Amino acid sequence: MVGKEPQMTQIPHDNLAEAMRGSYPELEAVREAAGDPVYLVGGAVRDLLLGRGRSDIDLVVVGDAAGLAARLGAETVEHERFATAKVERDGHELDIATARTETYPSPGALPVVEPADSIEADLGRRDFTINAMAVPLQGEAGPVDPYGGRADLENGLLRVLHARSFEDDPTRAIRAARYAARLGLRLEDETEALLRAADLETVSADRREAELLRLAREPTAPEAYRLLDEWGLVTLREGGVELARRVGELLELPLWQLRAERDRAVHEAAMGEPGGVLALADRSPSRPSEAVALATACSAVELVLARAAGAEWLDDYLEKWSEVELEIGGDDLIAAGVKEGRAVGRGLAEAKRGKLDGEISGREEELAAALAAAREA
Ligand code: ATP
Repeated sequence: MVGKEPQMTQIPHDNLAEAMRGSYPELEAVREAAGDPVYLVGGAVRDLLLGRGRSDIDLVVVGDAAGLAARLGAETVEHERFATAKVERDGHELDIATARTETYPSPGALPVVEPADSIEADLGRRDFTINAMAVPLQGEAGPVDPYGGRADLENGLLRVLHARSFEDDPTRAIRAARYAARLGLRLEDETEALLRAADLETVSADRREAELLRLAREPTAPEAYRLLDEWGLVTLREGGVELARRVGELLELPLWQLRAERDRAVHEAAMGEPGGVLALADRSPSRPSEAVALATACSAVELVLARAAGAEWLDDYLEKWSEVELEIGGDDLIAAGVKEGRAVGRGLAEAKRGKLDGEISGREEELAAALAAAREA
């Protein structure tokens, strides 16, 4: 556990609609355009109760979602059987979906989707009670919370809606780790037993990885990976939690920030194959040219991992050596009589080595060193 309990702001149930209007003023336009009942659902409701500020806006329409989206000037509507649309409002994106139910033909398979005739039915397909709450945009009705999500949030509990939840969709186990780590929640006892029995192998590797990468993007990813390991759902690299933590920190530093996609790097740190690139951390190149040779053989993610594992010389590589270029080019060697081909490459490589290692500087010395090496080749 991260050891912190989620801090709920004290929003009385009656005032949730008011809090919603305060945090999401753009929903007023949705309310005005709506015909059928519309609800704010999922993470945004949860985060309102937690006082966590704005979240992605997911709206559910019990009825004609495409019509509402069109009236709001939707840019994209997916005309499947059930409209889901994205609408832009005051610089914010709103996701609008038709209320639906989902049934799973077999464990881990994609669900069969049917329209739902109530918001409660739509909430019934969701992953955890804390994500299965809705606030109506119109009328005077209070929040819809059929599974006791608010109470669970107050008690810091993550609870599935029914016993088959992880069987239907084992990626929910990965989502559980993400929420538990991010919000400092613990699993309700029965949910924990069900989760430990989950089989991530029944979902496709792509879906599994996509959900893991979503987790890896969050600042609390190391704790989430630790939980997945504790629950017996993944096998981590030895020291993977610590390495993932250091990768996360490293990618906050200006020098390293844009070197690699955070999610890939953190994921590799936690779950990658043992050995491999981490051996780079045990090397201490004696000359810049050696450092450059080692580093250029690595991918961006590998470099970040090696640095996180202790290869401090990679800072010098990035700051000083990775950008070193010769003032001369192959044309200069050919003009000086070197035959096109391998000798040109050898000459330039040797000049670059000499320049990196501080043996030569300036155009003339570069040319002399390159010609000597080219003629030897
Ligand atoms: P975040 O704060 O990470 O964005 P979120 O709750 O908005 O969290 P999303 O993945 O955007 O999460 O999903 C929106 C909502 O859809 C969730 O709150 C949940 O109700 C539902 N949901 C998403 N994925 C699943 C799933 N695999 N099974 C059941 N319900 C899901």
